[in-house]
Amino acid sequence: MPELDTDTTAPIPEEDPPWDAAIRLIAVTKHYPGPHGMVKAATDGIDLAVRPGEIFGLLGPNGAGKTTTIELLAGLRRPTSGTVLILGLDPAVKREEVRRQVAIQPQQAALFPQQTVAELLRVWASFYPAPETPEVIIGRIGLTDSRDVRVAKLSAGQRQRLLVGTALISHPQVLILDEPSTGLDPNARQELWSAIRGHRDGGGTVLLSTHSMAEAETLCDRVAVLHQGKVTACGAPRELIAHHAPEREVRFTVAIGTDLTALRAAEGVTRVESHDTADGTRVTVHTRDSDLVLRRLVGPLAATRIQLREAGLAAVFRHLTGVPFQSAAEAAPVDSDSEGATA
Ligand code: ATP
Repeated sequence: MPELDTDTTAPIPEEDPPWDAAIRLIAVTKHYPGPHGMVKAATDGIDLAVRPGEIFGLLGPNGAGKTTTIELLAGLRRPTSGTVLILGLDPAVKREEVRRQVAIQPQQAALFPQQTVAELLRVWASFYPAPETPEVIIGRIGLTDSRDVRVAKLSAGQRQRLLVGTALISHPQVLILDEPSTGLDPNARQELWSAIRGHRDGGGTVLLSTHSMAEAETLCDRVAVLHQGKVTACGAPRELIAHHAPEREVRFTVAIGTDLTALRAAEGVTRVESHDTADGTRVTVHTRDSDLVLRRLVGPLAATRIQLREAGLAAVFRHLTGVPFQSAAEAAPVDSDSEGATA
């Protein structure tokens, strides 16, 4: 198991942010009854502040407290202690006011199976005083070709996007999505992401939970990493990567027997791995200074098949939680992660 980050896991400060938060959690703890009369802290003193107009991601391994946080925001549960505010309102008390301005799409929701996509969105629109036009939402969620298909006949991915459409139809200021891209193929995921970006670009705020590092890195303006009910890091994906996982990997091939001593001793190099292959010795250098390694050290070695790979949020996640991320392969390469690509 990787070493846990012990010195840099400071949660964000408790003091009020210099802007009016769209979502604010202050020291929020939620206890559930556990076995043998014990209590289980699903959230344990969470502090979060989501800016208006940003896409904010909640990341964390199974059981980290993401769904509980969303249920607290939905007003479905009350915190054992602490304060939960959406647009300055307590969602468990000001239910109606919150419902008018906030849309929450749960992981699962019952939809009428015999209605078509267009019919269902029309019915949904009728629940709200100033809804978005169903046709606009259908376009935004990429279901134009399926507008007359019954809900029962939709694929899992189409159904998932329709759920997001039902959340968007009320013109919410704040959109909260629990693992919205689960089960979507890459195209459907792109459609969903553009719908979510469209909401943000129109001035809306989005909070979503996700298990996808690609989603967190590509879509989210900021993320919070939850672990065992606590916020262990919060910031823009690039900031978190620079702070918690600054190492890059430089890979290349050299002739078997090449002296790697200078490389191993170079400043910023933390680890060098090598193994012989049919084409030569394949070397992987872990370094905080990939420019130095590439310019001064790899060049003179007559290296081939040079690759540079940047750590992604998956490395941050592993570093902070000690849990290998299930889709670590999603970590984005800087140049290319396909063998044989040259830098
Ligand atoms: P996942 O990624 O698996 O959806 P999560 O981050 O959403 O996980 P939660 O569902 O919020 O995590 O669960 C946090 C902790 O609280 C877990 O240990 C879970 O077992 C526990 N928990 C959640 N709901 C309840 C409940 N109704 N009663 C008792 N314990 C619960």
